Amino acid sequence: MNVIWARSAAILIGLLVLSAGIYLAFGPVPALALACAALFSLLCYYLYQINRLWKVLDAPVYGEIPSALGLWGEVYYRLHRLVKRWRTQVLQVEQQHTRFIQAIQASPNGVLMLDDADQIEWCNDVAEQHFGLNARRDVRQRITHLIRRPEFVHYLTRQRFDEPLVMRDMGEHKHSVIAVQILPYGDNRKLVITQDITKLENTEAMRRDFVANVSHELKTPLTVLTGFLETVRDLPVSEEDRRRYIDLMLVQSVRMQSIVEDLLALARLESDEQAPGNDIVPVQAMVAHLRHDAEALSQGRHQVSAEIDTTVGLRGAETELLSALGNLVSNAVRYTPDGGRITMRLGWEDGHAVFSVADTGLGIAPEHIPRLTERFYRVDRSRSRDTGGTGLGLAIVKHVLSRHHADLRVTSEVGRGSVFRVIFPLERSVRSAGGDGTIAAVPPTGVSTSPQAPDSSRRAA
Ligand code: ADP
Repeated sequence: MNVIWARSAAILIGLLVLSAGIYLAFGPVPALALACAALFSLLCYYLYQINRLWKVLDAPVYGEIPSALGLWGEVYYRLHRLVKRWRTQVLQVEQQHTRFIQAIQASPNGVLMLDDADQIEWCNDVAEQHFGLNARRDVRQRITHLIRRPEFVHYLTRQRFDEPLVMRDMGEHKHSVIAVQILPYGDNRKLVITQDITKLENTEAMRRDFVANVSHELKTPLTVLTGFLETVRDLPVSEEDRRRYIDLMLVQSVRMQSIVEDLLALARLESDEQAPGNDIVPVQAMVAHLRHDAEALSQGRHQVSAEIDTTVGLRGAETELLSALGNLVSNAVRYTPDGGRITMRLGWEDGHAVFSVADTGLGIAPEHIPRLTERFYRVDRSRSRDTGGTGLGLAIVKHVLSRHHADLRVTSEVGRGSVFRVIFPLERSVRSAGGDGTIAAVPPTGVSTSPQAPDSSRRAA
């Protein structure tokens, strides 16, 4: 027997016993009157409690559960327990739901849920950005009313979703490429997943351009080489012509070799994920060395000078830095007409070690400057080729400097010259204790000691 039956039985038995006592003491009428009065009071009390219960059950949200004595206390206690358990469950479901939404919001992909009539039920922020939607405003709208692009409508209605759809000119600025994949689920509902593949597409385009550029760069010397070889093989040529042809073929082979060496250097730099070492680089000796190389390349056609602050020291990878700074110096010589000046400087700027090379050469028009470090980008194609350039020198410089967290700044004026400045980060700039802060001018050597021939002045990292 449960507690309700037990309590009800106790009340009735109590009333019966009391009425029987009254009956024995005062006769049947008082006993009946007492029983009637007690039952009537009980009825009124029950009606009052039923009314309270009704109000509790009828409220839109369960608030405080009332308390009462006796039987009704038991009822309210059980109701209170039920509501509490129910509230905990609702809270848990709500938390799960919030976590689920947060997880979808954290996804780099767009997620959009469609009902069986292709109306938007919900979408995350990324999907809003990709499609230019507004989740609050557009919910319950048919998606094809909002995304009207024919390819999307066709993809949705064709009902074949094995391949994603690639949509261009998407996103806020219409510059993004988005892959859209629809996944049907449940009873005719759909999940739309979007992914921004702009970078992937750009990388793929860069790869295609790169392969085309490399093929083009190698094709020209190869064609020349083949032409001379055929001539030497098929035609009777004088000894003098044969020598001349062989010299020209050698120039083309050296050019191909330089391209391949620079490509390998770039590939090495790209694949090396390890940060360059933290060793102290003998940068002053390096600059002095670069000056000698510049003179060798110039062969007396330019005035080459170097100013070195003897307190400047650097941390990094010596071979990589020599290659990067060497490329800047060799460019200065190659793009400066005879009689020009090349000045290298190693000094301090706001606590940063700075290497710069200034020339009084051809100069570069402003529109070319941001693109100089692109592979195979050349402003003056014929001069680059005639001086043994591969179009990869500044790309190598950019890679080496970005590995050292250093900045390359270029200022230039057409016809007046250029300044290429390398600004090293504070953590790689070292104030050497040995130096006394004097600016040493490296004396000219006159005769080159560089082992490198002028045409192969580039240094692969
Ligand atoms: P390249 O092997 O052709 O010199 P780089 O990557 O070293 O290739 O340089 C890219 C282009 O930048 C060059 O082709 C040239 O047009 C331009 N350039 C680089 N340095 C200078 C400079 N000091 N003065 C003028 N133009 C320069």
